[in-house]
Amino acid sequence: MHVPFVDLKEQYLSIKEEIDNSIARVLENTSFIGGGIVDQFENSFAQYIGVNQCISCANGTDAIEIALEALGIGEDDEVLMPAYTWVSTASAVSRVGAKPVFVDVHPDFYTMDAAKIEEKITSKTRAILPVHFYGLPADMPGILSIAKKHSLLVIEDCAQAHGATINGQKVATFGDIATFSFYPGKNLGAYGDGGAIVTNNGDLASKARVIARLGQKGKHNHVAIGRNSRLDTLQAAILQVKLKYLNAWTKGRQQVAKWYNEALKEAFVKLPSVPEGFSHVYHLYVIQAEDRDGLKEHLKRNGIDTQIHYPKPLNQLGIFEHQGSFPVSDVMSGKLLSLPMYAELTKEQVEYVVNSIREFTK
Ligand SMILES: *Cc1c(COP(=O)(O)O)cnc(C)c1O
Repeated sequence: MHVPFVDLKEQYLSIKEEIDNSIARVLENTSFIGGGIVDQFENSFAQYIGVNQCISCANGTDAIEIALEALGIGEDDEVLMPAYTWVSTASAVSRVGAKPVFVDVHPDFYTMDAAKIEEKITSKTRAILPVHFYGLPADMPGILSIAKKHSLLVIEDCAQAHGATINGQKVATFGDIATFSFYPGKNLGAYGDGGAIVTNNGDLASKARVIARLGQKGKHNHVAIGRNSRLDTLQAAILQVKLKYLNAWTKGRQQVAKWYNEALKEAFVKLPSVPEGFSHVYHLYVIQAEDRDGLKEHLKRNGIDTQIHYPKPLNQLGIFEHQGSFPVSDVMSGKLLSLPMYAELTKEQVEYVVNSIREFTK
């Protein structure tokens, strides 16, 4: 049996007619940039998250950069963020001229460890940038209380956690501003690149919009030096269709995770942990295995595709200022393995993956 890591084709086929019609309408109108469909998607997505404002943009990395710039973060500022995340989170901070300051992650949840934040705060610290990693919300209650105590801004990187909640409250609504990616493999994915910035703060929203739209406030009224970062109309039309199915797909992912959790209980691997009151949307289903690389090879031989998110924590990339050691991130990057995860995975496929894992770890 072959079990792919993700299967975007199966998802497309399940909504093919609607998607094809939606694409055809854009082609007929030949309005490829901007227009009503982009506005509609921004409104729908803001409504889905439960915020007033959504500014769509070209990708999730741009979204972080634009959000930081809208907050006025730049030269001489420090931004606290997890040492273990996708490189975009840190490179966006560096790109605006600020310094990403790494905080180690929690050994059970893999998100930024709130207990290790305060020791990194200096007179230059301006903001905390938690990542809702693998689909699990970061410890927002802990992070918000530190932010409040030290008057720090909070930017949430929600690229891996569309629709995840803490006690029913959606991620992206905790901090000052939040960012999303619609990269095809994300929980809400376009058929190309896409991203968004969301906030309840109207002033921040208009700043972000001006930055992302070449400094324009209304046509030909350039009020700042901006950049060009747009979600194109085809992607907006696709996302508008797919957004309707996001909750159902999230439930599908959670069902797959439940199958994995139950069947892997007795295998010698550590399963994902979820704090009380948190909902995990399983962008990735990540286990810890002692012989991770051996297990990965074994699964590959059985036709099962897995991935490593990520082989190196940011402190090991050699592109950011050296900041000492991050023991949890350093160890986890050698043990974590992402198993196949998407809403359409069948129970039979999950059982096949689990049996292959047990064969190796028994
Ligand atoms: C995917 C991702 C991004 C960047 O998104 P792109 O759309 O690929 O630029 C940022 N942060 C995290 C945590 C991500 O997983």
